[in-house]
Amino acid sequence: MRRPVICFLLLALFLTGCAAPTDPDTAQESIQVIAMDTAMLITTYGEHSVPAAYACEDTIRDLEKQLSRTDPDSEVSRLNNAGGEAVEVGEDLYFLLHEAACLSAETAGAFDLTVAPVVSAWGFAGGEEYRVPSQEELDRLLELVDYNAVYDRYIIPPTDPPKAAIGPGQAIDLGGVAKGYAADKIMEVLQEYEVPRANISLGGNVLVWGGRPDGTPWRVGVQDPARPEDKNAFAGVLALTDSFAVTSGGYQRYFEENGTRYHHIIDPATGYPADSGLTSVTVVADCHDKNAGSGDPYPGTMCDAFSTALFIMGEERALDFWKTWEGTPFELVLVTEDDRVIVTGGLADRFTLDESSGYAYETVS
Ligand code: AMP
Ligand code: MG
Repeated sequence: MRRPVICFLLLALFLTGCAAPTDPDTAQESIQVIAMDTAMLITTYGEHSVPAAYACEDTIRDLEKQLSRTDPDSEVSRLNNAGGEAVEVGEDLYFLLHEAACLSAETAGAFDLTVAPVVSAWGFAGGEEYRVPSQEELDRLLELVDYNAVYDRYIIPPTDPPKAAIGPGQAIDLGGVAKGYAADKIMEVLQEYEVPRANISLGGNVLVWGGRPDGTPWRVGVQDPARPEDKNAFAGVLALTDSFAVTSGGYQRYFEENGTRYHHIIDPATGYPADSGLTSVTVVADCHDKNAGSGDPYPGTMCDAFSTALFIMGEERALDFWKTWEGTPFELVLVTEDDRVIVTGGLADRFTLDESSGYAYETVS
């Protein structure tokens, strides 16, 4: 007696499944990925949302395998251990080396891809203990920090397969751009799978694609650097569509010794964690400003390098840099140690201060 009921239910389910075409706004996949030392959340919409989300994950894992400093088999590790000899690299590392060397030059070495030996000495490369290196050790290691050596050794045109070299004794650290570059590549995946909207959060690197299903912009919180333990404590919220928003801050990774806090963003001018008066820098750019072949940096990679560099530069130099930059446009949210939030003109109508944060709000143009 029960069988016809089950058959009827199955038939009803089957019919419902067939009858309702996938609604691009409601079809959604959300996956968490732990990679590149951080928890990432990938949310895609549209009829291909499921394969698209997993293709994004594949992109991240593939890049991590090439760019990790802790994996001894990664291409970056092989390059770092080659004693200055040229080694075969994949297309991503070949391309990213050039991007990172150019971005190092453009930020006058505030971002410097060869800062790796100093990052390691502090224990921020992973695998080592955190410690405060002696000034003597830092001075010795700082002699190896020179992005020009990578630039000078860059092999153009690429061989087949491409090869790359760095200076003897040098090592590279792409931790300051890898997630931004991953976001640039994820954008290609979203296009390939015709994803109408997505929210990709790679630690401090966010890519919002399209708007929310109700047509309004995505809301991207700028974490309050003074309350890092509370992930829901924001300095303010950005209303964004089709944008990269990348945040760097000393609160993201640090250790304490004898009452002093040491964070992971190293000023190549001193060898010490940057002490510029800023507690975080968020860089925002339009994600479609990707002019392949134009010589301009990819916008996600650019935002990532600039967030690290401008955090080191401090308020005055960072704002000068923003005013005089002639490449792909970007905007800024700076949070200062003396409790101010400074927002550049292009974001003024897209940023809402969180009143409970207690920050004073300023705009600059
Ligand atoms: P981000 O979170 O993007 O600001 O990147 C910080 C990471 O970049 C650190 O964990 C280091 O791996 C690396 N890094 C630290 N200081 C610098 C620097 N001055 N230039 C380039 N990379 C850096
Ligand atoms: Mg960065």
